[in-house]
Amino acid sequence: MQENRPYNPFEMARSQFDRTADLIDLEPSARELLRNPLREYHFSIPVHMDDGSVKVFRGYRVQHNDARGPGKGGIRFHPQETIDTVRALSMWMTWKCAVVDVPLGGSKGGVVCDPHDLSLREQESICRGWVRQLARDIGPVQDVPAPDIMTNDQHMLWMLDEYETLHGGRYPGGFTGKPVALNGSLGRTQATGYGLVYSLREALKELKIHPEETTASVQGFGNVAQYAIELLSRIGGRTLCVSCWDQEDHTAYAFRRPSGIDLEELRSITDRFGGIDKGKAMDLGYEVLPGDAWLKEKATVLIPSALENQITGDNAGQIHDQVRIIAEGANGPTTPEADQVLQERGIFVIPDFLANAGGVTCSYFEQVQSNMNYYWPMDEVLAKLDLKMTAAYIAVSDLARRSDLFMRDAAYVLSVNRVVAACKDRGWI
Ligand code: NAD
Repeated sequence: MQENRPYNPFEMARSQFDRTADLIDLEPSARELLRNPLREYHFSIPVHMDDGSVKVFRGYRVQHNDARGPGKGGIRFHPQETIDTVRALSMWMTWKCAVVDVPLGGSKGGVVCDPHDLSLREQESICRGWVRQLARDIGPVQDVPAPDIMTNDQHMLWMLDEYETLHGGRYPGGFTGKPVALNGSLGRTQATGYGLVYSLREALKELKIHPEETTASVQGFGNVAQYAIELLSRIGGRTLCVSCWDQEDHTAYAFRRPSGIDLEELRSITDRFGGIDKGKAMDLGYEVLPGDAWLKEKATVLIPSALENQITGDNAGQIHDQVRIIAEGANGPTTPEADQVLQERGIFVIPDFLANAGGVTCSYFEQVQSNMNYYWPMDEVLAKLDLKMTAAYIAVSDLARRSDLFMRDAAYVLSVNRVVAACKDRGWI
C-alpha cells in the first residue's frame, strides 16, 4: 500500500481514535470532546541572547484531557516542533495514563528551538520563560510536565525553581524527571525500557515462547532501547541487531552480530545521544549495515525504540517471517496502513502506549513521592512498576482475546472507555 501524504502525527492519532470510536459506537458528544484537546496554550518566549540580541521562541502546552486527574506529559525542545505533534502526543498521553490506570490525564508541551545552538544560560531563560507563561495553568494539581526530547533533569529543575518562585513555596510534585538527589525517583532512567520488557515477558508467556529462545532486533540505542536490551538479556533473551543515527554521516546504521550483541561493549562506544562509533564497532566484529536492516532481521521480536512513522505500509512486508511480536518502545512507530499488514500476517503487537508506559508510570510514582516528600528505594519502585505494567498488559490482552480484537484496538477500547466514563461521571457529556 502506498502512503504519499506527508506524515502528520495528529491525523494519525485522530484516525486511531476514530477507529476506536467506531468500534465502541461512541456517541457524537464524546467523539467531539475527545478528538480535540480541552485546552491549548500558544505563546512567545523572548530571550536575551548571549550576543546581546533578543530572540523570540515559540512555546506550546496542550492539555488534551484531564477528566481522570491532572495532566501529565513531557516538554520537547526541537527545531521542527509543530503544534500538531504536540496535540498528537498529548492525546496519546491521555490513553497511556488510562491504559496503565494511573489517575492522570494527557498533556504535552514544546518549544521550537535547537538546544545544540544554545548556551546553558539561554536554555535556562527559555525554561523560565515557558513557566512564566503557564504558571497559573500547570502544577501538582493541574498539569505536571516532564522531560522529553532534548530536555533533561536540569531543565526540569530550572522550571520547578521558576514555578516555586512565582508561587512562593516548594511544590516538588509539580514537575517530574528531576535529579534523584533533588526530589527525583530512583528507577526513572530504567523505567521505560524495563516496563517494555515486563509487558514483553507476559506476551511471551501468552504465545508460549520461552525467553531463552527469544531473539530481538532493536531500532535505536538510546535510553529505552538500552534498558530494554538489558532486562531482556536478564530474562534469558538475546539481541542480535541494534540501529542508531550517525550524526557525522547524517544517516542511520544497523549493527549486527548473529551470536548476539554485547550491551556493555556497545555502550562503551556510544555517545550520550545514543550514537554508536561505527569504526570501533567494526573493530569489535560487528557487521555495519544500512539503517533499515533491523527491520529485516530474523528475530522473534522487533523493538522499534527510536522514532515515529518507521514501520509503514511500504516496508511492513519486509519484516522476516520469523518475527512473532513487535513491542513498540517509540511513540507512533507503526502507521495504520502497516497495522493492516501486521494483522494479516498474524504478528502480535504490544502497542506503544502500553509497551512504553513504564516511563509515565514511574513519573507518577515520582509525583506521589514528591507530594509525600518521602522517597522509596529502587526495589520498591521497580516492583510497583512491574505490578502496574503486568496488570495493564493482562487487562488489554484479556480484552483482545474475549472480543477478538487486535492488541492496539483492545488497548484503545480499554483506555477510551475509561476516559469516557470519567467524563460522563463528571457530567461533562
Ligand atoms: P534517546 O534520544 O535516548 O535515543 C534515541 C535513539 O534513536 C538513539 O540511539 C538514536 O541514535 C536513535 N535514532 C535516531 N534516529 C534514528 C534513525 N533514523 N534510525 C535508527 N535509530 C535512530 O531517546 P529515548 O528516550 O530512548 O526515546 C526513544 C523513543 O521512545 C522516542 O520515540 C520517545 O518519544 C519514546 N519514549 C521514550 C520514553 C522515555 O522514558 N525515554 C518514554 C516513552 C516513549
